[in-house]
Amino acid sequence: MGYRSSTLNSNALQERFKPGDKVTLSGWVSFVRKQKEVSFVGLRDAFGTIQVVVPHTQSFQGRLEDVVTVEGVLAERAGGKSGEFELRAEMVKVENHAKHPLPLGAGPATAAANAAYADQQTPQQRDASLKYRYLDLRVRPYLQRNLRIRGAAALAMRNFMTNEAGFLEVETPTLFKSTPEGAREFLVPVSSTEKDAKPKFYALVQSPQQYKQMLMVAGIDRYFQFARCYRDEGGRADRQPEFTQLDLEMSFVRESREVERVIEGVVKAGWKAAFQLFPSEVPTPPDELKEFPRMRLEDAMRDYGSDKPNLSYGMKIHYEDSVATVTAPGLWAAMSRKEKDDLKKFLFQEKLVDDARGSGEDYVVTAKDASHKRLGRARLILAQWMKKKGVPLPPGIMKEHEPIWITDFGMFEPNEEVEKSVSCVHHPFTAPHPDDLPKLAKTLQAIRDAPNPEEKWRQQQNLFTGLRAQHYDLVCDGMELGGGSIRIHSAELQQRVFQDALGISEEDCQAKFGHLLEALSLGAPPHGGFALGFDRFMTLMCGSQSISDTLAFPKSSMGTDPMTGAPCPLTDAEVGAVLGRFALKPSNA
Ligand code: ASP
Repeated sequence: MGYRSSTLNSNALQERFKPGDKVTLSGWVSFVRKQKEVSFVGLRDAFGTIQVVVPHTQSFQGRLEDVVTVEGVLAERAGGKSGEFELRAEMVKVENHAKHPLPLGAGPATAAANAAYADQQTPQQRDASLKYRYLDLRVRPYLQRNLRIRGAAALAMRNFMTNEAGFLEVETPTLFKSTPEGAREFLVPVSSTEKDAKPKFYALVQSPQQYKQMLMVAGIDRYFQFARCYRDEGGRADRQPEFTQLDLEMSFVRESREVERVIEGVVKAGWKAAFQLFPSEVPTPPDELKEFPRMRLEDAMRDYGSDKPNLSYGMKIHYEDSVATVTAPGLWAAMSRKEKDDLKKFLFQEKLVDDARGSGEDYVVTAKDASHKRLGRARLILAQWMKKKGVPLPPGIMKEHEPIWITDFGMFEPNEEVEKSVSCVHHPFTAPHPDDLPKLAKTLQAIRDAPNPEEKWRQQQNLFTGLRAQHYDLVCDGMELGGGSIRIHSAELQQRVFQDALGISEEDCQAKFGHLLEALSLGAPPHGGFALGFDRFMTLMCGSQSISDTLAFPKSSMGTDPMTGAPCPLTDAEVGAVLGRFALKPSNA
């Protein structure tokens, strides 16, 4: 018996065959219902399912998730959809048994059903989902559907970038140099053959930022790639240690709008492809002819307390006499006494509000020092409660699933981790707004001329106000879909930013960024770019609660891989051998 004359896609079957035709079909057993004279057996493959009727004259040995091939005759399925087939089995062969009991059961096909399913999963079931991911992918059609959306969107986006926008797809290395770019890096020790050599490391790229800028110096003009990026941030909610960005860079851009236009085009192309695949499930794509709206960061912070505001509902922060208030209409009346107390306790514990009380039917929270960010977080929590209690959210200035540009970011901000130091709002390669360049140059000079550390810090604080960066973020449903900027293309300015603004010593600057500074000094064109978080974009397309639902083999929330058990410890002897190979010594040696 051969394997199959067709997949189980019902359209393909209907196009090629008619009732009475003899076919061979293969797939997995998705259900078995034994009746008096026949068994009804579900046969599933990647493309569909069909009911197989097995007469008891055949001894059917198959169980759930066994791989079977059935030879038989197609018939119209009684009570099925018009034209739907069933297969009357004449011969059934079990190709391979699945071990029982199965570690997990079948799951839903749609995003809505999946949300309920995921909510009800116990922690043990969630672990099993990741440990047996290949089985979960097979039995939870929702997950396979997401991979299909991902593939279709990626193809359309590649096509747009290459054929419509004139970009060249270039792969850049993932083994890179350790550089302070913000997040914690994964370090890769390299075998050493030299005696007594110092251990040497690569770092996995956090993003191809420096490579893509060097491609602009190389005259490539317009580059893109679906780039794998790595950040050692295990344990952070809904983050993956490795993730995918649609990364791009383009030369001779004068203003950010030119980059934004490309992003709007590629987002719309990917969205449309996903929508065409599952029109009843994927959100309606944005209008092809309309630009995405824009909001200044200052307005977003003032009104919504966030640099990625969710604008699909109202509940703006209201200010009066230096007291800031957020009102959740109808929430107070909808909550039990215990819920009100629990929420209040939580808001206080997280130091988000100074007061939380009922006003008529509404839940009202206030903060005295008008701290935007605190109330912004409280607003999100109130909205989550309203959704949970079925209280309608007041309409916002945008609909759900509408992307918006957030613009007019500052260049620098105080470093929250190291006292009296400066960090970049985006990254250190971001150019200032041309009108603010004189102020930046003057401030950097004053920092350089400062006679002592106190005066230097006093001057550095001038970097926090009145310096706009050419940086833009794309935000949707309160989620940052991506960010980018026009870059500094002058080696001298770049060096001044590293040394004066960020306080990196000249020596460190050469050691860490000498390659980039040299490249910029060898004829760098003006350039700018963007990185779109492809995984996040896919959560939007797939209507999923979590990035991991859109990946074939995601890591757990702790950044581990429960399927293979990686990362895994080595025996002491293995560790010793590894340390020797990499010229490393244990820290207590
Ligand atoms: N490299 C930046 C990031 O990964 C994006 C960019 O500026 O193009 O966030």
